[in-house]
Amino acid sequence: MEKRNRKLSTKTLLGLMIFAFVMVFVGGLMWGKLNSLLQKHMENQIALQANYMAENFQTRLDNEIERLSEIAIELETGKYSRVLEVYEKMDKQNKGSYGLLCPDGTAAYGEKISVKSFSGIRDSFRGNSAISYSPEEGILFSVPVLDAGNVKYVLYRKYNNEEAASRFAVECHDGEGFLFLFDERKQRVIQSSNKELGESSIWNESFFSAIEKELDRKLNVASSASLFQKVNGEAYYFFKADLGRTGTGLIGVVPGRTVATGIDGIGLLIFWVFGLLLILFIICFCYLFLSEQKIRESDELREAKRAAESANQAKSDFLANMSHEIRTPINGILGMNTLLLQECKDAALLEYSKNIQSAGQSLLSLINDILDISKVEAGRLEILPVEYELFSVLNDCYNMTKIRAESKSLSFQMEADSTTPSWLYGDEVRVRQVMNNLLSNAVKYTLEGKVILSIGYERPEKGRINLVISVSDTGIGIKQEDIGKLFSSFTRIEEKRNRNIEGTGLGLNLTKNLVDMMGGEIFVESVYGKGSCFTVKIPQQVIKEEPLGDFTERYRKFLNSSEESRSCVVAPKAHILVVDDVEMNLKVIEGLLKKTKIQVDIADSGMECLGLVQKNVYDIIFLDHMMPEMDGIETFRNMKEQKENRNRNTPVIMLTANATLGVREEYLREGFTDYLSKPVQEELLQAMLIKYLPKELQEQNTSRPEGKEQQPAEYGGQETGGTEQKETEIDRLKALTQLDIATGMQYCMNDEEFYKEMLMEYAKADKVENMQKFYALSDFANYGIVVHALKSNSLSIGAVALSQAALALETAAKECDAEYISGHHEGVLSDYILLTEQLREILG
Ligand code: ADP
Repeated sequence: MEKRNRKLSTKTLLGLMIFAFVMVFVGGLMWGKLNSLLQKHMENQIALQANYMAENFQTRLDNEIERLSEIAIELETGKYSRVLEVYEKMDKQNKGSYGLLCPDGTAAYGEKISVKSFSGIRDSFRGNSAISYSPEEGILFSVPVLDAGNVKYVLYRKYNNEEAASRFAVECHDGEGFLFLFDERKQRVIQSSNKELGESSIWNESFFSAIEKELDRKLNVASSASLFQKVNGEAYYFFKADLGRTGTGLIGVVPGRTVATGIDGIGLLIFWVFGLLLILFIICFCYLFLSEQKIRESDELREAKRAAESANQAKSDFLANMSHEIRTPINGILGMNTLLLQECKDAALLEYSKNIQSAGQSLLSLINDILDISKVEAGRLEILPVEYELFSVLNDCYNMTKIRAESKSLSFQMEADSTTPSWLYGDEVRVRQVMNNLLSNAVKYTLEGKVILSIGYERPEKGRINLVISVSDTGIGIKQEDIGKLFSSFTRIEEKRNRNIEGTGLGLNLTKNLVDMMGGEIFVESVYGKGSCFTVKIPQQVIKEEPLGDFTERYRKFLNSSEESRSCVVAPKAHILVVDDVEMNLKVIEGLLKKTKIQVDIADSGMECLGLVQKNVYDIIFLDHMMPEMDGIETFRNMKEQKENRNRNTPVIMLTANATLGVREEYLREGFTDYLSKPVQEELLQAMLIKYLPKELQEQNTSRPEGKEQQPAEYGGQETGGTEQKETEIDRLKALTQLDIATGMQYCMNDEEFYKEMLMEYAKADKVENMQKFYALSDFANYGIVVHALKSNSLSIGAVALSQAALALETAAKECDAEYISGHHEGVLSDYILLTEQLREILG
């Protein structure tokens, strides 16, 4: 980029120089052209002025003659000497002297004038008025004085040179120029006072004659002319004009600087204009250059931003696709595991299988969160409102949280306002998700005490409510300074302290995004060390005002009814088709359907499905969405168009891992009868069969699947009957504070015998030695393996706190956090030793 800039600036500089050169050149040309134009103009002006001066002179000379003629007429009648005395007196300040010459050459009045000096006298004796000039004596005006038609005298008025100059005020250009009148003999008659110029070398015969020639050439077509000429580097304007009498005229010169100050000014103006233009151009250029650079930079930034956005988009797309890709095999694993859980009798395998189940579920929910976050980032997450029953959402969330809370010996309470309208219109899936996120956090970050879910509402207007969901806990709380960080993605708070609590830092970020998208608000109140309260308000439309009623009462009724509906469908005459490209998925469904005795056909592609629907009539078709070549939707569309399809009225249920969006409506819009999300849950599958299999094919079988048949043990630890000895053992076990029997029993299918077997196994397997050994060697890798086993073994017998402490050690081992391990190793070890000793003592 730097190289490019340097290239650019050289280019720019060159461009600038060329432009400056062009400007100077054009400026010079203009200056020259303008100068010559102005010179021409000045020449014309000066010629005009010369003409004007010549006319002026002519008028004055004529006036002089006229005046003399008037006096001559007076003299014809009167006494000449008296008349002339009067005039002499009268014209005193006008200088000059009057005289009257007789034909014999004598003077009848005034001074005698020789004809040699003033040839005009001769003309006047011939009856003409005349002006004649003598370089030494001056100028003489003469007119004849008639007597009976004959010239009796010649009246004259004579001005010496000085008088003539002042009388006729011969000044040229305020004394800066010089001019003279010339007579027929080319003699200077009257000249202006600027002696310096009058006597300068420019009047040099040879030099001036060329100028005069040029002036005369011009005078052929005009009565005045002017010529610009440089003499010794000085500019001059020469001019010449004719006077009325032939052969007379005026010639003059004026220095260029006197008349051409305007030209110089214009030249300067041009210089300034061009200079300013150049400066302006440079400024504009710099500005343009800088802004171009800025634009280029911002283009580059925009390009970089676009690249980053498209990378981000690619990332989001990748995550979205990957998440889907990952979901499919996990679904397979979880499905197969469900079969394993159903059919396996081996206690150890069952425990592993349960671990797979719980790890798989966590992984699935993590993938779901990532998928949702990437959809939010890619702007592809949509809010899909549907009509829903609030009770069903509360019921599900309550159920799920109750189990989680009980596993940690926490009390969980629901406080729902019974007047809350129960049929709402909004995005049910997202409301449920928000509620679940807050509840699962509350349980996760509470070690003892309780979690309360409060449901209420505000009514901003008729037909709408703000659903108020409040989740409070008596957990670890959040420091005030951390509250601002809660909603950033991938941000966990107090990581060290929470190291034994699983989490990604995605939940609250997603929750906030979802609440925002639904037009709601989220608030947090927390007291560090005492507990937190998260409140969410989500606007929802009310479909039916029917109040929610007493939640606890409804929940109890629901439990009873679901107990009844736990029965399993058996339909040996029913025939269904399952279409999925993943063999494991097919196996899972087949396995889940095994006890229903339904005849199951399988197809691993859309094409195969299209073939089978022409051959057989099915009672239900389960069709997978994501399949190569022809996906579920395409297959479904082709089926509808097929003439030979014998299953036009058969319910087709979409089977998909794409459960995160509110896709149900999309599938229903496409024409599917219903939608079943993967991993397929046995209960939901059963519900589908009950709903869509023809009733005449269904035989109800109320026996429960093996392994689930036993009534769950009361978590509070109520005796389930048995010998006295057993009672004592359980009683004594209950007294162990480290042990949460409810949790342990849950992991042992609520089978007390099996639970005790597990406890004995736990007490037998001694990890103390290995823990000590690897700790002493600082062999964190192996130490991690031991505490990892301790973690899962402890959890499976209900030693929840010990399991969590072991998890923290495992994480520390992974991070080689020697400080944490050395601070907690002894404590965990002694708890473990104490528990195993107590178990050995109780169970013998
Ligand atoms: P995580 O997967 O870590 O739970 P979340 O986004 O759900 O991610 O929460 C972010 C952080 O907020 C958590 O790491 C935890 O420190 C804190 N937090 C969330 N809920 C609570 C709560 N109820 N009590 C205390 N801390 C909480």
